Amino acid sequence: MTTGLLTTTVGSFPKPPYLQKARNAFASGKLSREELSELEQQATREVIALQEEIGLDILVDGEMARGDMVVFFAEHFAGMEVGGLVRSYGNRYYHKPVVKGPVRWQEPITVDLWRYAQSLTDKPVKGMLTGPYTMVEWSFLEGYDDFRQAVLEMARAVNYEALELDRAGAPFIQIDEPALSTRMEDIDLAIEAMAIATEGLTAKTATHICYGDFVSAYPRFLDMPVKQFDLEMANSSHDLVELLKTEGFPEDKEIAWGVVDVHSHEIESVDDVVAEIKRGLEVLPPERLYIDPDCGLKTRTWDESADKLRVIMEGVRKVRAELGIE
Ligand SMILES: [Zn+2]
Repeated sequence: MTTGLLTTTVGSFPKPPYLQKARNAFASGKLSREELSELEQQATREVIALQEEIGLDILVDGEMARGDMVVFFAEHFAGMEVGGLVRSYGNRYYHKPVVKGPVRWQEPITVDLWRYAQSLTDKPVKGMLTGPYTMVEWSFLEGYDDFRQAVLEMARAVNYEALELDRAGAPFIQIDEPALSTRMEDIDLAIEAMAIATEGLTAKTATHICYGDFVSAYPRFLDMPVKQFDLEMANSSHDLVELLKTEGFPEDKEIAWGVVDVHSHEIESVDDVVAEIKRGLEVLPPERLYIDPDCGLKTRTWDESADKLRVIMEGVRKVRAELGIE
């Protein structure tokens, strides 16, 4: 593996149409769990092959078995139920989970598919989990009077799953907290929960928080007990970059710098990507600067995802060549 500007993705990939169809068929009882699992594995093979072909360094399984990132775990944790349909944004509806409590981990949830994905490649595959704060914040809370207590118990459940991934050999474990974006005032609780969620892990830890107001939460958010922050930078405020440049960023931490906008159909130019990478290099040396899209790719089409990743890779290769990185 190269030593600088390692490339990765945030986690999700678009599901191929056959898998979306199969998920619907499974939901209406027309397809067995085994048949669906086989198609999830097929899609995982395709996602790994795509990332290999593009030349990314740290791969993901593409989350082919997940619909919603909270519902997927809610279906497996004791003390959680999947509730009725709720409107999330626009015309999108989903089954918002209910935290009934007490929340407990029961069995490995992500390990089999992670292991399968890792068996397909010599490159490292990240383990991907939804963070405890997001799990509770994006659910209805019924069984607890105390939000904090629910988040901390959820953190223990997430920790058990993380430890399973760790024991299985996952070299990276990413625990995402997108719900924090709009609730930076809860950063202290999220940090306390992340400390529990990452306890005892030997894997490199990362967290992804989309589009958060990091400027207002600076420097407190840097205390999040993970090695790597995966941040959206393609459209981020100039202020955050300035703050990181002038006030600093911890020497023992890394940033995965999101350089393309996953919410736009438009494919960025290689020059755009190069410019973004260079902004990152003003803050961090290449060994601690990872390059990726700014969020999960699941809202894009397969081809758009591939095109955006190819542009990222081309930009990275260009900058690596300029810096003399093999
Ligand atoms: Zn995101």
